[in-house]
Amino acid sequence: MSEREAAKYPFLKAGLELLDGLDLQLDDLTDPNYGKALDRAAERVKEAIVQGVVSAKLADPLTELLSYPLAVMYVTLIGEQFLSRRFALAEAVRAYNLLQDEYEEKITRIAVDEFGWDIRRDPENIDGVPHTLKLAYPDYLRAASSFHEAKWKLVNRKMENGLVCLTGVEAARLLQVGVEQWVRERVSTPSSFTLPEPLQKRLDDVKKVFEENRVRLSGSQLPDEVINEAFPPCMRYCLEGLLAGKRASHMERFGLTSFLVNVGMPIDDMVQLYTSVTDFDESLTRYQIEHIAGLKGHRTKYTPPTCSTLRTHGICRNMDSICETVSHPLGYYRKKVRRLERQREQQEAEPSNTTAQQ
Ligand code: SF4
Repeated sequence: MSEREAAKYPFLKAGLELLDGLDLQLDDLTDPNYGKALDRAAERVKEAIVQGVVSAKLADPLTELLSYPLAVMYVTLIGEQFLSRRFALAEAVRAYNLLQDEYEEKITRIAVDEFGWDIRRDPENIDGVPHTLKLAYPDYLRAASSFHEAKWKLVNRKMENGLVCLTGVEAARLLQVGVEQWVRERVSTPSSFTLPEPLQKRLDDVKKVFEENRVRLSGSQLPDEVINEAFPPCMRYCLEGLLAGKRASHMERFGLTSFLVNVGMPIDDMVQLYTSVTDFDESLTRYQIEHIAGLKGHRTKYTPPTCSTLRTHGICRNMDSICETVSHPLGYYRKKVRRLERQREQQEAEPSNTTAQQ
C-alpha cells in the first residue's frame, strides 16, 4: 500500500501496520523534523471542533498519516465525550468526501477488508440511475439505521436475494457510518499521561480552541431562535390547545409560558399569541408573562415544571422516544435541537440527489 493511500484512509489495516513499522516513541516526536506532523495533528482536531469536518491534505502523505494517531491522542487527552463524537464524525466525513471519488472496486475492497461487509459489484439500472453495488441487507440495516431520509428506508430500496442495490456514492455514505464508529471506539476512552513540551504546547492550543467552542459544542446553550420543531409533545399539546381556542388550565398556561420564555420567544410575540387566540386582557397577559420572565415582581425567571409535575397535572401527552430519556421539557428541547442539527449536518455532508444519482 502507498503512503498516499494510507494517508487518505488511516483506518486501513495496512496503514496502521505502516505506522507500527515506524516504531515511533513520544520522545522521538520532539525532533523538529516531526513539527509538521504535530501541527497537522492539532489542526485536524481544530478543524473537527470548528468546522465539523477534517480536510484531506495529501501533498505530504507521511505527515498526513502520522498526524492521525497524534490527533487521536490529543482528543483522548482532552477526554470530553462530545469532542470525541465530533472528532469521529468529522474524520468520517473526511473519509466520505474521499471515497466519493473512488472507483467501486476500491469502495468494495475497503468495505469487505476493513468492515467485513458482504458487498459486491453487480451493476443494474434503476429508473435510469446506475446502481453498481449490492450490499447484504443486515449490513445495510446496521449502517443505515440512523438515517431518517425516506430514501434510506428498506421499503424504498430495491432488493434482490437479500442484497440491497446501491450507487457508489450511497455505499460511500454508508461506509462513513462504519468509519465514524471505528474512530469513535478509539477516542472514547480518555487518557492521561505527560507529554514532552512540543506536543504539550500543541495540545494546549487545541484545548484553547475547544474551550472557546465548548458551549456551542456541548449544546448547553439553547439556540437564539425558537425551534418549533423541537418542542416536546407536552408543550405542543398546550400550544395546540391554545391555538384551537380551548380553555387552558393554570398549569398549562404556566408550563407553556415559562417554556416559551426559556426557549427565547420574545415577550411581544407571546402576548400576541395569547391575545390573538383568546379573550385574555392584553395588559394583564403582558404582566403575567413578564412576571414569569423575571422582568416584574420578584425578578425571578421561572423554569417550566418537571416532567413528573406535568404528568401529575395530565399535561404529559403523546410521549415519544426522547421523552424516555429526559426529566424536563427543556432537556427534551435541547436534545431535539441537537438531533435536528446533527441531521442537518449529515444532510449537508451528503451530495444532492442529482449528484447521488450520477
Ligand atoms: S415526558 Fe416530559 S417532555 Fe415528554 S411529553 Fe412528558 S412532560 Fe413533556
